Amino acid sequence: MKLTYQPYQLELKYPFGISKFTRTATPLILLQLEYESFTGFGEASMVPYMGENPETATAFLKKVDLSRFHHPFNMEKVMAYLDDLAPGNPNIKAAIDIAFYDLIGKLEQKPCYKMFHADPELMPVTSFTLGLDTPEMMLKKAQEAAGFKVIKIKLGRDNDEEIIRAVRSVTNVPLYVDANQGWTDRQQSLDKIYWLHEQGVELIEQPMDKNDVDGNAWLTENSPVAIIGDEAVQRFADVEKAKGVYHGINVKLMKSAGMYEGHRMILKAKELGLKVLIGCMSETSCATLAAAALAPLCDWADLDGPFLTKNNPYQNPDFADGKYVLKEAFGLGLRSVDGFRL
Ligand code: MG
Repeated sequence: MKLTYQPYQLELKYPFGISKFTRTATPLILLQLEYESFTGFGEASMVPYMGENPETATAFLKKVDLSRFHHPFNMEKVMAYLDDLAPGNPNIKAAIDIAFYDLIGKLEQKPCYKMFHADPELMPVTSFTLGLDTPEMMLKKAQEAAGFKVIKIKLGRDNDEEIIRAVRSVTNVPLYVDANQGWTDRQQSLDKIYWLHEQGVELIEQPMDKNDVDGNAWLTENSPVAIIGDEAVQRFADVEKAKGVYHGINVKLMKSAGMYEGHRMILKAKELGLKVLIGCMSETSCATLAAAALAPLCDWADLDGPFLTKNNPYQNPDFADGKYVLKEAFGLGLRSVDGFRL
């Protein structure tokens, strides 16, 4: 097994604003696992608020020795090995996990979604995120998002109503809202949620601080709209804690350390009666195709990463009627931009 990797700076089409940060590019590690004559591709997206960067990722990768693993790979053991090397580091662990699944798919001549018994017919539509901007720019972005059946909006500053009205003036599609912990007063939040409900908002991510368990639970109890925990739910152990606090959870492979644990989180959430939104960070087609392989098992999808970037090094995923289209290609189904078969 040969592991190679290179840093990559993924540039965004527009500066991306959420309630606490605005950024224009995201550092990635693109990673390859070569085994026999096959190569699996993985990706770590290191958004700054998660605390990883190319230096921490490189330091982690220097400790990794995969020579003990042979096909058929046991992903439970692979992930336990990575977690034993060092705690945390879910972004770079996800890159290794994703590359393993791509490799396994190629070795076993199977698309990744079939490994998880995901039915492409059950693929939910993917929302398209409009970052916070001036109302004029929000209009322009909404027009560009015409191929998407749902729009997701980042709120949580002081102009929430203005932004919703700007979006509503150009589109009537259902809306998802992400407050990114930006709301502080629970009664004001609930009043706002009722107003958003009237505006066609179908779910709201992380309305209040992730540590405000009582505040989020109170909103969930009283909200006419589904309340989803995102920042509050990182890895498997957090799923159980979300019960009674949120209607559902947002699973992202960069939080769950990849597909193995992301899949376990989805199954656990279903067992607990929680809904599941599968999301992404600023990512290329590589990590979002990995999430798309699990998306048919989820209630909602928010996998717009590659569509928001300027320099995706791979072809954009196949997309029709607002949904990812899963094909028969082995592994992730990743294709390079020049058509060269990976
Ligand atoms: Mg979110």
